[in-house]
Amino acid sequence: MYEPTRTDGTMNGGVSHWYSEIGLPVPGAPLARDLDVDACIVGGGLTGLWTAYYLKQADPTIRIAVLEAEFAGFGASGRNGGWLSSALMGSASAYARGPRGTEGVQALEDELRSSVDEVIRVAAAEGIDADIVKSGVLSVARSPAQLLRVRAGLADALPGNRAVELSGDETSRRIAVAGAIGGSFDPDCARVQPARLTRGLLSVVRAMGVEVHESTRALRIEPGLVTTQHARVRAPHVLRCTEGYTARIHGLRRHWLPMNSAMIVTDPLPEHVWSEIGWEGRELLGDAASAYFYAQRTADDRIAIGGRGVPYRFASHTDTNGETQAWTIESLRGILDSAFPQARHVPVARAWCGVLAVPRDWCASVGVERRTGLGWAGGYVGHGVTATNLAGRTLRDLVLRESTDLTALPWVDHRVRRWEPEPLRWLGVKAMYGLYRAADRHEDEGGPSVSRLARLGDRLSGR
Ligand SMILES: Cc1cc2nc3c(=O)[nH]c(=O)nc-3n(C[C@H](O)[C@H](O)[C@H](O)COP(=O)(O)OP(=O)(O)OC[C@H]3O[C@@H](n4cnc5c(N)ncnc54)[C@H](O)[C@@H]3O)c2cc1C
Repeated sequence: MYEPTRTDGTMNGGVSHWYSEIGLPVPGAPLARDLDVDACIVGGGLTGLWTAYYLKQADPTIRIAVLEAEFAGFGASGRNGGWLSSALMGSASAYARGPRGTEGVQALEDELRSSVDEVIRVAAAEGIDADIVKSGVLSVARSPAQLLRVRAGLADALPGNRAVELSGDETSRRIAVAGAIGGSFDPDCARVQPARLTRGLLSVVRAMGVEVHESTRALRIEPGLVTTQHARVRAPHVLRCTEGYTARIHGLRRHWLPMNSAMIVTDPLPEHVWSEIGWEGRELLGDAASAYFYAQRTADDRIAIGGRGVPYRFASHTDTNGETQAWTIESLRGILDSAFPQARHVPVARAWCGVLAVPRDWCASVGVERRTGLGWAGGYVGHGVTATNLAGRTLRDLVLRESTDLTALPWVDHRVRRWEPEPLRWLGVKAMYGLYRAADRHEDEGGPSVSRLARLGDRLSGR
């Protein structure tokens, strides 16, 4: 049902490469009887599963149902680049406009850093084997303008951020990326195998007594009630954890924009190629372009690399089983070859894509309305692997009506205006990425300053 197809000889879709290692799950049968529970969580990705985990741990008597349209881990949680990163999900200046100002941003960043360790701790404690290595993240600059961007990021860093600048030689000694002239290294990031993490967490929450109903799509979400194809679920708390798929839910079409991200993975690289590339520290790797790439060296010695592809499909459409366009595969192969010419003869084993949610101000949020019991978390703009854990613990506190350090963070109850109607939404995103690509081309040609086109793209998108 979720099997990949072939595009020009490359396996395409099948949800993601990560499932070719553990096998695609066969989704459970749809919920066929009405339920009464204390909390109904819609969406069986990491946000929904972490929320169930921490709620059940806080109160083992609480009755929780997770409703998942496909199978748990079908969405971005089972498809991502495996960066368990402490990066802020969105714009620091937008969060700083809240009542706590910069101090609130500092608190949020501190919590994200400790969330990286929290995920590692829980995985070890619960016996989840997700190929986790706390290897840090290397950001490479491959043009003078990219180096300026790396330095600007370091200059803006708040206390507690442990990122340091690296020279071109220091960068290349870690990973021999062609054309690297410098970079930065941040130790607060870990590599994970996303599907192993998500399915591992699923087993843990099921063993704790959480009911997870797969093949069960929420058609309507209202205070106290979720309506699915065959059954209704009543609950004083209904928590929406549907990230990039939120626009499909009744009444939420313009809420968050489903942004596409695509990846390819190579066959395992031969030992002699690895000896040229290095990458022995298994760092996460990205560049500082406007349309940036992100990559990891997998546990079985492949390179998995991702980037934007077609950023947005008209009217918030999403892919069906992770299948991506032929030109996206070609363009990712081009990025791979330009960064690692040593690996240009190694075939691409699989390509896939998925969606992440982008709010109009590029800031994630989490909240529970006291009056209605309706809650949500998401809009992580592609930095959700760690943030889902923080969201889960925050939703726990909000549901249990406890005032904690987490419920005082600036993303709690953060509200944002809706996206423009079509065709403006589609035209806007297309123009933004057109500007980013033009800016990257200009910067690659050696322009010494950050391109004005990149700034214009940021302004257009509200980034
Ligand atoms: C290709 C790609 C690479 C990425 N790389 C990284 C990375 O390296 N690091 C990082 O931090 N972030 C990354 N992200 C983002 C990160 O994966 C997400 O932010 C995170 O997984 C979001 O988790 P979630 O549970 O909120 O959403 P999802 O994992 O998308 O889960 C939502 C679930 O809700 C279900 N659903 C939707 N609608 C309904 C409904 N009506 N009824 C029932 N169920 C429903 C879906 O089927 C899905 O399983 C990446 C994303 C993509 C697509």
